[in-house]
This record gives sequence, C-alpha cells and structure tokens, in this order.
Amino acid sequence: MQRHWFLFFLLIILNLTTCALAEPAHDYGALPRIDARADYQGAMTDRVAYLVEQGETLSVDDVQSLVRANPVALMRPETSVLTNGINSGAIWLVANVFNPTDAPILRRVSVGTGWLERVDFFFTTEGQLPQHFVSGDRIALGHRSIAKRIPSADYPFPPGETRLLLRVETADPMVVPLYFSSIAVSHSREQSEAIFYSFVYGVMFALSAYNLMLFAGLRKRRYLFYSLYTGSFVAVTASYNGIGMALLWPDAVGWQQWAPPLLMLCFVSSGLAFATSFLKTRRYRPRLHKIIQTIGVAYFALFGAFFALDEQGLALQLAFLVVPVFTVLMLYMGVSSWTGGNQFARYFMLGTLASVIGASVTALTVAGVITYSQLGYYAVDIGMVVDAMLLMLALADLARKNKVARVTAERTAQIDLLTGLNNRRGFLPVAESLWSLVTRKDSNICVAMIDIDHFKNINDQYGHAVGDRILKKIADELDKSRRKGDLLARWGGEEFTLLLPETDEAEALNVAERFRHNIEQLVVNDCGRMIRCTISVGVASRHARHVTLEHAISKADEELYQAKVQGRNQISTGRTSDVA
Ligand code: GH3
Ligand code: MG
Ligand code: MG
Repeated sequence: MQRHWFLFFLLIILNLTTCALAEPAHDYGALPRIDARADYQGAMTDRVAYLVEQGETLSVDDVQSLVRANPVALMRPETSVLTNGINSGAIWLVANVFNPTDAPILRRVSVGTGWLERVDFFFTTEGQLPQHFVSGDRIALGHRSIAKRIPSADYPFPPGETRLLLRVETADPMVVPLYFSSIAVSHSREQSEAIFYSFVYGVMFALSAYNLMLFAGLRKRRYLFYSLYTGSFVAVTASYNGIGMALLWPDAVGWQQWAPPLLMLCFVSSGLAFATSFLKTRRYRPRLHKIIQTIGVAYFALFGAFFALDEQGLALQLAFLVVPVFTVLMLYMGVSSWTGGNQFARYFMLGTLASVIGASVTALTVAGVITYSQLGYYAVDIGMVVDAMLLMLALADLARKNKVARVTAERTAQIDLLTGLNNRRGFLPVAESLWSLVTRKDSNICVAMIDIDHFKNINDQYGHAVGDRILKKIADELDKSRRKGDLLARWGGEEFTLLLPETDEAEALNVAERFRHNIEQLVVNDCGRMIRCTISVGVASRHARHVTLEHAISKADEELYQAKVQGRNQISTGRTSDVA
C-alpha cells in the first residue's frame, strides 16, 4: 500500500517535470506588432516571436538578418508566459512596436522574473542609433539599466516603427513574462507584488523567528529544524525573485549565482531534518531513515563537488532533480506515518499536501499547461505559507499532548496503583506545606502511623492476591473514615500515614479510635471465608514549635511500635494514660 503511494506521487512529479520542460513551438509568419499607446496590465508574450540560440551566441545583427531572411525561424509562444526549462539556450524575443502618433511615447519594457542572469534590451528605429540596455542578476544592482529586482528598460518610442529585441540568458528556469506598460502601471504592479511578498515573508519570518526562540527555550531540535526550514524557504525565494539582491546584497554578483542552489540545499536538508525528527523516523521507520540520510549525504557530497569545480549550472540541475524527490519523500513520510497510526502526522501530511499542490500549480502555470495567472504563478508561495502554518499547528498539537502526558505521568507517579491513595511522593509535598502553614499560625497538627496487624499471616493463609484485595478494602475504609481536610497516604507495604491539621492530640485520638473501630468491624468475604483484620496506630502531635514533620512522623512510628508491643489493635500517643 505504502509503496503504491510512493510510486503514484513519483509519477505525478515526474509528469510535472516533463511538462515543465516541454517547449511550445509554433510556426511564425509575420512579425507581431505592439501598439505603443497600449498599456498592458499583464504579461503579453502573445505579441512577440522568439528563437532559442543553439550553441553559438548571436548578435543583434545576426538576429535581424535571420528574421529578414527566414521569418519562419521565429516561433510564437503558445502561452502567455514563455518557458523553456532549466539550462535553456539563450532566448531572443522579437517584436515590432508601432507608434501611430507624432510624439514619442515613453514605455517600460520588463521581464517579470528576478532570477534571469542577463537580459539585453535592444531598440532599433530606422534613422536612429540602436539603443542597448543591460540588466539581470549577474549585474550589480547599480549597474543595471534600471536599479530594480526585475530586468527593466525605459524607452521613448518615437513615431513610427521600432523593433524591440530582447536577449534572455539564464541557467535557472527560463520563465519570461514580458511586460510592456506605462511607468505608472509598472509601479502599481510592483506595489501589489510587494504587498504579496510582505505577507508571505512576514508570516514565514515570524514562524522562523518564533521557532528559533522556542528552540532556545525548550532545546528541542525539531523547533530549530523547523525554523531553518521556514527561514531557508524565505532565503531561497528571496534569492530567486531578486528581493535578496535588491535589498540585501546589491553588489554580490557571485553570491547571487550560487545562492539559489546553495539555499535549496539548506531548504531540502532542513525540511528532511525536521520531518525525521518530528515523525521520529529513526525509531519508527529505521530503513526509511537510512534512505533519507543517504540521499542527504549524497546531495551534500555532489553539491560540494560541483561547488569545488565552480559548476553552478550542474549544482542547479541537481537541486531541481532533488526538489521533486524531496517533495515526494515528505509527502510519503507524512502519509505512511499517518496511516501507521501517528496522529501528529495528520497536520504534517496536510501541510505537505498544500505545498505540493502549490508547487504543482506553479509548475503547471510556468509550463503553460494552466493559463497563466498571478495566483498560479505564486501558488508555490501560498502553498508554502499554508504548509508552514499547518506544521506550526502540528508542533503546537505535539507540545500540548506532550504536556498533558507529562502532567498525567507526574500525577500517576504520586498515586499508589493498588489503593488509589497518595503515595509518599504525593503525600510529602502537601503535608510539608500544611505543616508549615499550621506552624506559622501556631495551631495544632497531628500525625498518625497506621499498620495492619499480622498481615503476613493473611498473605500466608489466603495468598497474596487476597492480601491485595484486603489491603485495598482497608485503604477504602480508612479513606471513608477520614475527615475532610485530613491527608491520607499509603506509606508503604501495609502501612498508612494520616496527617490531621488543626487537630489536638485528644481529637487525633478520637479519629484514630474511629479508624481502629471501623477496621475491626470490617469483614472481607473471600469465597465464603470471612476475613477480619485489625490495625495499630501511633499518634504524635506538634507539641513544640521546633518539631518538624519528619520528626513527628518518626515519633508516630515509635508510638506505633509501642502499640504493637503492647498487644496490637490499639492506639499509642506516647502518654501511657492515653493508650486505648
Ligand atoms: P505486624 O503486626 O507486626 O505489623 O505484623 P505484619 O505481619 O503485618 O508485619 P510484617 O512487617 O512482618 O509483614 C508485613 C507484610 O505485609 C509482609 C508483606 O508481604 C505484606 N505486604 C506488604 N505490602 C503488600 C502488598 O502490597 N500486598 C500484599 N498482599 N501484601 C503486602
Ligand atoms: Mg503489619
Ligand atoms: Mg508493617
């Protein structure tokens, strides 16, 4: 069953990857035209033709003469966003922009993907010098055509026709949403993106920081891994969408190239570390744990080798190979742990499902299978936020259940299992505080030690099981006979302790006498055999200010011994006249 799940999801992911790599191709006749007056709100690849460089780098003139000689060499994108997988050859976008007015029209051309390495914008108008702008994340922010996270260029399109040529080069996924709009529309798009990212990063950053604090306080490693997992998601996406470079490392061009594969490694390894520690795979699924460890070690080793050889492209390909495997593994771990009876795996599984759905929707969107929409493009971020929140719920649920279990365990440790009375551990802390309270008020308090007479004989005669039953009956009877506010405990074996706050020695004697009497009257019916028992009681009072509880207990013990010596079934208070 579990193996089938695994295969099923693996097939889905492989299918998605193939879809993402599929290249839409289409014959192209005449060059499409963009109206310079238009102010396109969304991506508009439909008015653009493209070609993919095969091997050698083409120049603008090469492309211009190619278009002139053989327009069929150009293809028309079938989707509103052009995609060509990872490690694609450079892509040239070609379009004609027509300005029918007699004044120049200022427009901003931008490619809404922050990870493209180099984007060259060429504007050629007859009778004018060709204009060239450069951007992309291989160029320090300050040296780009416009110092923005996404490659952009402003151009006043003169009356008549201008040819727009764009060369896009990247080892990362080739996703080219082309925007052609006024600067105002471009600003409002940036603003809505900023709001979206502020929300996603705000949530993720808060979760990451909060869990880091939980780790600092509770020293449970799963909080650290979770913090790293959410933190590295923020770092991966910030390195991809260009926010990292725009805000944090504007000049670190080398780091910008290595950050995505390196941070993906952090994301995957912290995700797996969190999952294994949260689901306790080492204990419950040792073989799966070994497989995950092997994948982790192999990933680190290969990444290290690619880094040493400065093979950034290979490191990226590796990351894109590992991420689907990682996703399948996370989901598989959640499902198999949940079906295996781990109730905490429920939120984990739902969360992972949310991020898998998000990632798949984004993959299908950039692959052009689903019609491009902002929601589809950002589904991976939304899925990840849902995932992070559900995982947080899972952690909270686990912490709550652990606390309940701990409180129950603590309470159980204070209760005697046979009689249900307090044991010494349950008795002493309460008795100590009652003792000091009474001492502060300088009122009376007594302790009684109670022991069943000749209990060994009962065991010998009727057996240990019957002995247990009788012990329980006597405990119940003592519990019934005690006054409210008196504290009764099983001290050990067939011995009990009774603490009597606000009670003088005479009253304590009365209570002890009632106990003795009630037990004497108690008859236990064992298969027709009537069994009777008696108890002896030693009573001690806090007759002086300096007497401690410990001291009073040992005094009561001495008195109990006296009661035994004097014939049992009686009470001793240390004053011979008081012995019953
Ligand atoms: P005494 O009157 O001097 O107290 O005699 P005794 O036989 O009661 O005292 P002793 O200390 O010699 O023996 C106590 C017996 O209580 C021995 C032990 O097996 C029995 N006992 C202690 N705890 C349990 C228990 O939990 N269940 C049963 N069935 N017997 C117990
Ligand atoms: Mg006894
Ligand atoms: Mg005893």
